[in-house]
Parts: sequence; structure tokens; C-alpha cells
Amino acid sequence: MAKYVYDFTEGNRNLKDLLGGKGANLAEMTNLGLPVPPGFTITTDACRHYLAAGVVPDGLDQEVAEHLDALEQQMGRRLGQADDPLLVSVRSGAKFSMPGMMETVLNIGLNDESVRGLAKQAGGNDRFAWDSYRRLIQMFGKTVLGIDGDLFEHALDALKGRRQDTDLDAGELQRLVETFKGIVHEQTGRDFPTDPREQMRLAVMAVFDSWNAPRAILYRRQERIPADLGTAVNIVAMVFGNVGNDSGTGVAFTRDPGTGRQGIYGDYLQNAQGEDVVAGIRNTIPLEELERIDKRSYDELLGIMETLENHYRDLCDIEFTIERGKLWMLQTRVGKRTAAAAFCIATQLVDQGLITLDEAVTRVTGDQLAQLMFPRFDGGAGKKKIAKGMNASPGAAVGKVVFSSARAVELSEQGEDVILVRRETNPDDLAGMIAAKGILTSRGGKTSHAAVVARGMGKTCVCGAEELEVSTREGRFTAPGGVVVSEGDVISIDGTSGEVYLGEVPVVDSAVVEYFEGAAPEDELVKAVDRIMSHADSVRRLGVRANADTPDDAARARRFGGQGIGLCRTEHMFLGERRQLVEDLVLAPTDEARQAALDALEPLQKADFTEIFRAMDGKPVTIRLIDPPLHEFLPDIVDLSVKVATDGATDKDRRLLAAVKRLHEQNPMLGLRGVRLGLVIPGLFAMQVRAIAQAAKEVPGARPEIMIPLVAAVQELESVREEAAKILAETGVEALIGTMIEVPRAALTAAQIAEAAEFFSFGTNDLTQMTWGFSRDDVESAFFSRYLDQGIFGVSPFETLDREGVGRLIRIAVEEGRSTRPDLHLGICGEHGGDPDSVHFCHDVGLDYVSCSPFRIPVARLEAGRAALTGSDSDTR
Ligand code: PEP
Ligand code: MG
Repeated sequence: MAKYVYDFTEGNRNLKDLLGGKGANLAEMTNLGLPVPPGFTITTDACRHYLAAGVVPDGLDQEVAEHLDALEQQMGRRLGQADDPLLVSVRSGAKFSMPGMMETVLNIGLNDESVRGLAKQAGGNDRFAWDSYRRLIQMFGKTVLGIDGDLFEHALDALKGRRQDTDLDAGELQRLVETFKGIVHEQTGRDFPTDPREQMRLAVMAVFDSWNAPRAILYRRQERIPADLGTAVNIVAMVFGNVGNDSGTGVAFTRDPGTGRQGIYGDYLQNAQGEDVVAGIRNTIPLEELERIDKRSYDELLGIMETLENHYRDLCDIEFTIERGKLWMLQTRVGKRTAAAAFCIATQLVDQGLITLDEAVTRVTGDQLAQLMFPRFDGGAGKKKIAKGMNASPGAAVGKVVFSSARAVELSEQGEDVILVRRETNPDDLAGMIAAKGILTSRGGKTSHAAVVARGMGKTCVCGAEELEVSTREGRFTAPGGVVVSEGDVISIDGTSGEVYLGEVPVVDSAVVEYFEGAAPEDELVKAVDRIMSHADSVRRLGVRANADTPDDAARARRFGGQGIGLCRTEHMFLGERRQLVEDLVLAPTDEARQAALDALEPLQKADFTEIFRAMDGKPVTIRLIDPPLHEFLPDIVDLSVKVATDGATDKDRRLLAAVKRLHEQNPMLGLRGVRLGLVIPGLFAMQVRAIAQAAKEVPGARPEIMIPLVAAVQELESVREEAAKILAETGVEALIGTMIEVPRAALTAAQIAEAAEFFSFGTNDLTQMTWGFSRDDVESAFFSRYLDQGIFGVSPFETLDREGVGRLIRIAVEEGRSTRPDLHLGICGEHGGDPDSVHFCHDVGLDYVSCSPFRIPVARLEAGRAALTGSDSDTR
């Protein structure tokens, strides 16, 4: 019989798949002997069953009832018992943290009778009891019954006027409960359910359902969290932070999630429940001040934080509540952190002897490294600072101010950079946060919704800039000194310092980029990056090369750690002034004229290659012979037709137009390009091979590799190879000759193709295009968003390699190719070569190297190291 419910004493932190992160860690803390309110977890299995079948699985109700009985016995109270009620919270908790995206309902078990019992329990504190009751109706109404939350908020605001919520007295709150009940009746046609067990059952299903709420779906897509995991549900005995001033609630980190520095980082809110902190309803106080308010709880909390950090061997974040002087732990997890903090913490933990350098490499990701390579603002003069908030998520962002999520999406779709400005964000702002370059809020701390979500996304965020008066309705905010900023005005925000500037501030490269460019590591972050990169390099098996076709790119590739060039595209070398020679080539009336055009191109090509060989200083350079169709180098057919139709066109224009028409193709991507061009235009490839050989002779130590594009059949390769080998022999230059594998037929006949190729390089741009039948130039903008919405794939196959389809072809080609030629050298040079997940695939499948754009080289080096350390089921998040 399936087991769907686990008591906190039964679980542990390794059961995240089943119990979700929150449930697994509550169990872990319980077993560590920390003060966790008792409770139990309903598994993700139960949720998946419910979502698939529309009903809870057989046996679940019974199991929940048994665990609830046990909980009631342990607590000595029954759920919703009129004179002395047990109350519970019903909390979501998926395997991967999805802050604020799913639902939680607190204070389950209250009704018109038990509210009085609760007041008695709290020593006659009527105000607290009615406040808890109104919160239940509000949360339950919104979450479980689907009522617009604003209706409750407006009723609360109307009652409060200019007062704080803590200023409301018991009588007012009791009246508010009646108002809220009225809203429920009016909106649903039913009374608020008073049966505590019914409340609990409905709340559990609402949490299950919240897995598929639009914002949760959007968040999962953004964070690449699989859609089929489901959430667990935690039922936890309520403890109250809102019983009076000896109570409160807070969140904390065991070290600074922004920099990694050790210290006390957190926010505390007296006389409040947890959701008040996240929602930024009242401003929190720094956690240090708790020492003054309740030293005993404060000291205990610091001790627990130390225990947790040593136990998890990582930064943890926690949520806690103090109920009348008694500390309770409500949550912990290995905390999200900024990219900079991730590197610093990993090396700090090595220095503290808590983890090894191998582990340190697995504690950071290529995506985090990429974030550190973002530009930052130029420190120079002339900036007009208008406010300072908290440095919630680093980076530099410039854009037009917008005040709503919808407007952010709209303008960004028109290609504008925008900064989303809000008093505070809530989960409904997610689409706007994704669309914006940066986020600025006037309320809330580093643990507010805006801060947590932005950090998770690697998006620049400044929060809690309290000097700003934000008026969403009027579409403007006011900064000190009477500065008024309206929608559409440009501002710049610095997520590293928390500063906000009027107008556009110029940006400069990051210190990490400067380090990769050759600067000595000086600050803590760069030193941490240096240590981790060196270690990743020492453990990785995959080589990393660059896609580079200019001497500048080649030089940068070397500085960034590239071990060669994996793809030097030669087509740009036929543009500019050389177009004329291509025209001559295409128009050549005789063999002699064609040869003359090729002879003119050859020294130019030789000079191109010489410079690149020099820049790479003895490292291998894979030069791909020309790939695109020739008409791409000729004038546009429409322009030329217009010219020919008007007076003044020359005879040459007319011949050129005829040639362009002759070469015109309906599907150029599937037309006369790559090896086909080399076979159809005599002498073209030979000219390039001769230029390569001549250049190699001139640069001592040059290591050219000649790569033939778009091969589908070994016969194509054989004839080009024969000609190339002859030229190399004549010139006395040694070079590997290999092919790209970018047509499915090439992958499927790799055993034959390897007879004629000394290396394969997977051109996964074309291979993805041709395997899916997706035009690579069109589909992403045309309909991929629909495909992503419909879950047909979670990420574009042009971005992350499709392991099942394209990956299968690569596996076949690797196996077959190596069966023919065991020392066949294997690499990848499509865009996937710099994508973290795809790098892991390349490691798993046994490639020798990945090749990517110079800026992605550090990411590929790091991920190759992580792949070597974590094995095949590695997670690149
Ligand atoms: C590829 O197809 O993956 C490739 C690297 O070649 P190109 O992008 O130049 O077609
Ligand atoms: Mg290609």
C-alpha cells in the first residue's frame, strides 16, 4: 500500500523528491533536535496523483486523519476544539524552491467558537484571536475559494485608514471578520466553511492546485524546473508571532547572501505572522535588534544558525517565529545567493575545512559565472544619484521606467529596455520582472519578494528605496529634492551598491572579465573565481575551444583559456571589398576568368589565416571551408532588379542579375551551400586549402585543421579530401582533415564518414534545424513562445541541446565514428558548446572538446569541471 504521509520524525533532507524541500528540511531539523513545531508532510506522489486524476488518491484521507490524530494527541488539543483549539498551517513545498509562487494557508481550525478558545489560550488576548481569524478567512478566501484578494485588502484598508494594522482593536477585527465572511458569501454563494477538517481538506487540495497556477508555471519555465514534479504539502501545528510584543517572526541567512560574508543577516517583525514580512506590510527591523528585545531567543537563534551551517555545510536561510518568548524554527534550506556570494562562500567553506575544492566547484554554476561577467556602471563623474536602496541583486541596469508588469511586458516586446518600479512586488508581477532589465522597489528588505525572485533570476534589483514615493496610479515616482520621474523616463540602477540614478549611466566590464583578460586577481571575489576556475581546469576532461574568426577574437579566446579554435568560419572573409572578387567568380565566363578571380582571393585568404595562426600561437585552429550559398555575397535581387529596370544599368549589372536569379533558391538553408558549393564551383575549396597551407608555412608551429561543412554522404567528403590532401602534400604542410556533422544523414552514416575524416565537429545549429525541421532563422520568434507555453519543450532546442533527438544522433555518430576510427577526434561547435546543460551532455557522451564564443569559454571550462566531478546525472542549476 502506498504511503502518502510522513511525520516530521520520519523524513530527512535527502527525501526532497518525495517531501519537497520544506518538508525534507523540517524533518531534518526535527531529527537534529531543533525546536520545530510538530507536523507531517503529504508527499509529492499524492499531488501528482491528484493532478493527474482530479481526485486525491485512495487511502490519503485515512492516512491524513491518522497523522492528525497523532498530532492532536501530541499537542493535547483537537483541531479547532472550541475551548482550546489546535490550529495548523497548510504549506506548499516543492522539490525546488519557488518563493511565493504556490499557496499557504495559516490558522486552519478557527471558526466562531474556536476563536474564543484561542483568545482564552492566549491569556484572554481577544485582539490576537480575531486577528488570526480574519487572516484565515482572507487567506482561505483568496487561495482556496479563488476570491479576488483585493476585496479583502480594500476592506482592511478602509478600516485601517492611516493606522497600522497593529492599531486595530479586537472589536474592529471582529467586525472585519463579519465583513470578510460577507465577502465570501457574496462571491461564492456559500458560507465560509466552519468545519476545521473540511477547511484542512480544501486547503490541501488548493495547495496541490497551486502547482499549476499561471505564475508557478511561468516561474518553472524561467528557472527550468520540470513541470511534472508536483508539490508536497506540510501540515504544521501553528505557532504565533502575533500574540503580542513578546512575539514576532523573522527570516535570516547564516551569512550575507549578497557577498557571502559571515555575520548576522536578517529581518525581524514584532507581533506579526510570517506573511507580513514577505509582503512588506510593515517595515522590518534588522535582526541584530532582536538582541535588545529578547536576548534569550536571539542567542538561541544564533546557536541554531551555527548548527545548521555546520550541518548543511553551506549558507542556510531560515524562517522562525517567537511565540511569547519561545523560539520556533519554521523552515530552513540551503539559501539562494547572488553569483558573487556563491563563489566567495564556496572558497570560504574550503578555508573553514567544511568542504573540499572539488565540492567548491560543484557549488557554483556556469550561469552564476556568466552573471559575474555582466557589465557594471562606470564609476566616473556626472551621475545624478536620486536615491539609495538595498543592493538586493547585483549588476547594472538601464531602462525606461514602467510601473506595471503588463507595461513592462508590452514595452520589452517592442524592444525597449525597461526598469520595473513598484512599491513592492508580489508573485503576480513575475511576467514583468522577467521582461524588465531591472527591478526597483520602495518597500521591503533583502528577503522581500522582489529581492528573492530577482536574485534567483540573476536580475539586477534595488529594493526598499524608501525615499521614493511611488504612485503607480499616477505613473510616476518622486525622489528627494522634488525630482519627479514619470513613466518612460530613463533611470539606471546599480544592484551591487543599491544606488539609483537619473538618466543613462555608461557601463563598464566586470572585474571578473578584467581578470579573464589578464588582470591579477585582487578582490575576494576574483580570487575565489581564480581558485575555482583553476581547480575546474585541473579536473575537467573536456577541452574548450573557441568559435573565432578574427585575430581579435582569437586573442581573446586565448586569454579566456581557449585551448584552440574549434570553428573559424571563413565566410566573413568574402565580404567588404572582396565582394567584387566574388562577383567576378560568379560571373566568370570562362575557366580562366574563374581561376583569375580565385587567384586574386588566395593571397587575401592567406593573410587572414596567417594572422589567426599567429594569434593562436601553436594551438590548433579548425578552419571551416566556406559554407553559405554564394548568392549571399551578391547584391540583393530586388535592389538589382530595380537598378536594371532603370536607365544607367551596365551590362555587368544585367549579367549579375541573371546570375543572382540563377542562384536564387526557395530554401537556401537546404540548397547549394557547404560541401555542395565546393563540389560545384571548381577550385573554390582548393583555393582556400592552398591559402591555409601557405599561411601555415609562414607561421612556425601553426596547427591547421581543415573542416568540410554540411557533408551528408562520405562520397562528398572523399572527393574534397582527395584534392585537399594533394595540396597539403605538395606544400609539405600537415593538417587534419575532418568534417562537420550537421546533417542527420551524416550522423546516421558516421561509420562510413569516419573512413574519410580524422575528426568530427558537431554543428548542432544545423543538426537541430534539420532534426526538428525547424528553420533556425524563423521559428524562435515565430512560435516558440507558444511551444514553451504548451510545454512541448521546456527550453528552446537551439539553446539547450535536445538530448532525446539531436543527442541521440550525436551518440550514434560518436559510437559509429569511433568504431571505424578509434582515435577519431570529436568536438561540438554549434551554439550549444557554451550552454551549461549541453556541456554536461558533451562530457557524458565522450566528446573531446566543446567550442563556443570567446565570452562563453569560462562558463564552458567551469561546467566541464563540474561535469567531471558530478557524473552523468549532473544538475546545472
Ligand atoms: C552549426 O550548424 O552548428 C554550425 C556551427 O555552423 P553554422 O552555425 O555556421 O551553420
Ligand atoms: Mg552549420
